[in-house]
Amino acid sequence: MIRIRDIRCSVKKVENKEAEMRVLKTAVAQKLRANPQQILDLKIYKKALDARRKADLLYTYTLDVQVQSDRVERRALKMKGVQKIDLVSQKQRPVGSQSVKERPVVVGLGPSGCFAALVLAEAGYRPLVLERGAAVQERVEDIRDFWQGGSLKENSNVQFGEGGAGTFSDGKLTTRISDPHCLKVLESYVQAGAPEEILYLNKPHIGSDLLRKVVKNLREKIIDLGGEVRFNAQVQDLKIDKGHLTAIQVNDTWIATQSVLLGIGHSARDTFKMLYDKGLAMEAKPFAIGLRIEHPQEMIDRSQYGEFAGKYGLGAADYRLVYHGDNGRTAYSFCMCPGGQVVAATSERGYVVTNGMSLHARRDRNANAALLVGVTPKDFGSDLP
Ligand SMILES: Cc1cc2nc3c(=O)[nH]c(=O)nc-3n(C[C@H](O)[C@H](O)[C@H](O)COP(=O)(O)OP(=O)(O)OC[C@H]3O[C@@H](n4cnc5c(N)ncnc54)[C@H](O)[C@@H]3O)c2cc1C
Repeated sequence: MIRIRDIRCSVKKVENKEAEMRVLKTAVAQKLRANPQQILDLKIYKKALDARRKADLLYTYTLDVQVQSDRVERRALKMKGVQKIDLVSQKQRPVGSQSVKERPVVVGLGPSGCFAALVLAEAGYRPLVLERGAAVQERVEDIRDFWQGGSLKENSNVQFGEGGAGTFSDGKLTTRISDPHCLKVLESYVQAGAPEEILYLNKPHIGSDLLRKVVKNLREKIIDLGGEVRFNAQVQDLKIDKGHLTAIQVNDTWIATQSVLLGIGHSARDTFKMLYDKGLAMEAKPFAIGLRIEHPQEMIDRSQYGEFAGKYGLGAADYRLVYHGDNGRTAYSFCMCPGGQVVAATSERGYVVTNGMSLHARRDRNANAALLVGVTPKDFGSDLP
């Protein structure tokens, strides 16, 4: 396999998948000075939209290609932007060799708890997953009820329940880290029913509607591999003996365990308080605070795509803005949801939390984004010593 960077095509030419693969094959054959029949296999490794020149919007591709002859490959490897690659399957996972007395416990079934449980289950450790909220289907109904004026369920809402806080966001899979495990996450989502394009799109996104099926399938996989998932199971306390964890308390029952992963997200203030009172090491983190802005999607499309707006399968456009102030503060847009909606996302009575989400198709009238500024422990103080 060889990897070829920087193959560019006008968005006009690649409106559907079939046309895209045909155009790419021709472009690769031209670049390699080969016959299209000599291209045996072609996969998109990365695809990004370059909208800087409004006269002609371009997709930029990195492609993994298998060619028929060694001669073509050798010639290709002398070209700029071409390298040899070894595709090591991320699917092979080691089986754990360390024996544990009791099952490891994972608290929370958001993205972090889900993937921790999946990796443990694949390694043969049969984790027990405890989630304070409801299973995703029931949770969807609780949230719908709340948005229609019903009362807040404090353990089944936009922050709490199967899938975690991310389930009612945009399903954007944005990360600023470059870690080999990112591919494992994306592959697991695809196996659980997410669209395959998330493996190569520059800004992959699943959508809140598809995510519901995906998180349920991931839960079923954890169970198939020997794990157990309990909903409406809130961890209330830990038993620590001579510096070692021995048990956790769930719904007033104690469960013996020596290892717990707390994948509890940002919003479980009661659990953080309990951990703090237990004397667990904690440090105040810088975070960001702000509001959500909403505007017509059409306006964003026109501004980003010019005359191409609404054409060639480009879909809803996004944006990212940063402002560096003189006072050392930076304000920035975050979690922009094209064709989405602003939602009420509180998990506690008396608090207001605003979030944004969108469905896979991103066809709602408005775009929204958070507009944030960073704050540090210097701004808000701390009661930690
Ligand atoms: C207010 C807010 C707005 C956000 N907006 C966006 C957005 O618009 N778009 C976006 O892409 N991302 C957004 N994020 C970020 C995204 O939701 C998180 O990055 C992601 O969900 C973090 O995953 P996690 O698994 O660490 O935690 P979470 O997804 O928060 O999952 C934690 C899970 O732990 C469970 N839990 C907590 N305490 C206990 C306990 N004691 N016992 C048992 N279970 C427990 C909770 O019920 C929850 O299901 C937002 C986050 C927050 C808090």
